[in-house]
Amino acid sequence: MLTVVPTPIGNLGDVTERAREALAAADVVAAEDTRHSGMLLHHLALSKPLLSYHEHNEAMRTAELLERLRAGANVALVTDAGTPAISDPGARLVRACAEAGLAYTVLPGPCAAITALVGSGLDASAFFFGGFLPVKSGQRGAELTAAVERDATSIFYESPHRLLKSLEALAGLAPARLVCVARELTKKFEEYRRGFPAELVAHYTAHPPKGEICLLVEGAEAAARREKLAARAGA
Ligand code: SAM
Repeated sequence: MLTVVPTPIGNLGDVTERAREALAAADVVAAEDTRHSGMLLHHLALSKPLLSYHEHNEAMRTAELLERLRAGANVALVTDAGTPAISDPGARLVRACAEAGLAYTVLPGPCAAITALVGSGLDASAFFFGGFLPVKSGQRGAELTAAVERDATSIFYESPHRLLKSLEALAGLAPARLVCVARELTKKFEEYRRGFPAELVAHYTAHPPKGEICLLVEGAEAAARREKLAARAGA
């Protein structure tokens, strides 16, 4: 059986009991980076055969893993951090199992997007996850425009090198929209910084951002509701 195993996004204490059990029961661990996952296995005092499974060999490896699953092997799938298939390899293998009628299960566990959403304090009743914001400024602008027009909260993965550019774009597109930068989640310097785009531009100009980042944008409906309430309170 295939078990999709989320792994910590920065704090080794976040390995769940079921993740540990699934890795211990695996005949083979398919890993995005075998060296990286080897360290996790070492931390868990486990020694398992590792097989690389990354974006460049996903197609070939999927066929190979299907064969092993058909033969009755226990396969655990991990990525470097967080939940496989979320801006990471994995969806192809799950889809192949589903289509082939092979048994699989997915363990719940760490995921930066969901952790960031909850910690942002933004409306979590409906949300959109956009993965990594595009590198090209035109496409990035289009993504951010769609985010400010959307009714749900938008969540993106973002690089520290491009965060300021995105915040500046948001300051132009929707200056009164709440934004949250969720940085280094579960790590020593974890930070949730909420504010209007220009406030965050000022902050991150003075303190250049480092580490891993999620960028969240308040949805249009929640912003309108918040502004209405503020106007009522001020009247
Ligand atoms: N599959 C992973 C998950 O479930 O979150 C995401 C993998 S994606 C390749 C890596 C990106 O996720 C990072 O560049 C960053 O945007 C975000 N990320 C991962 N860990 C994070 C953390 N501890 N704090 C904030 N963002 C994080």
